[in-house]
Amino acid sequence: MGAKVLIIEDEETMVEGLTYNLGKEGFEVSVALDGETGVSMARLIRPDLVLLDLMLPGMDGLDVCRTLRRESRVPIIMLTAKTTEMDKVVGLELGADDYITKPFSVRELVARIHAVMRRTGDAGPVQPERFTFRHLTIDFERHLVTVSGKAVDLSPKEYHLLRTLVAHRGRVLRREELLQMVWGHDVFVDQRTVDVHVRWLREKIEEEAGRPVLIQTVRGAGYRFGD
Ligand code: CA
Repeated sequence: MGAKVLIIEDEETMVEGLTYNLGKEGFEVSVALDGETGVSMARLIRPDLVLLDLMLPGMDGLDVCRTLRRESRVPIIMLTAKTTEMDKVVGLELGADDYITKPFSVRELVARIHAVMRRTGDAGPVQPERFTFRHLTIDFERHLVTVSGKAVDLSPKEYHLLRTLVAHRGRVLRREELLQMVWGHDVFVDQRTVDVHVRWLREKIEEEAGRPVLIQTVRGAGYRFGD
């Protein structure tokens, strides 16, 4: 399997071209069309490198860069139509590893990707392997969940659900979103399934299942991990 590249870019023709060409170069490509989705996807798939457009709807490239950098050392190459020194300096100050100005050739981009990955390759783990919040710790490498230091046994769906909630921590996820993200296209499940799995998960990871502090129910909306 090739290196995982996450493209965060809203221009569809650019996305199509990059997906095709980087795929051909042997990279495993994922795409997010806006910044918020990009941050969530980075937490979930833990890419080896991020190609980040500067001008994005909503959360812009600089905000995404700042957020990703707070959480990980994943190499980031910023894509931009702007050529001013100002943007370049700001992007690099926020922790981007390199910068490429549109339009660029695939060959140039691939060369930059390899250069950045070589440069950052010995900088240690690119993403945190562990996540801790209150009494909960998740070891993503080993798929190990511990509660107050004790390992708990989660089913694959419970683990996937927890990982998804954690990846979007602080944000309310609606039941249908969770269904889509965790169960995909399985037609035999309905939204009650989400509630049932949340209940099972709470029994395993909350100190008091009846008074959850990790997975919050947001009435009429869905579920949220954390405060
Ligand atoms: Ca753009």
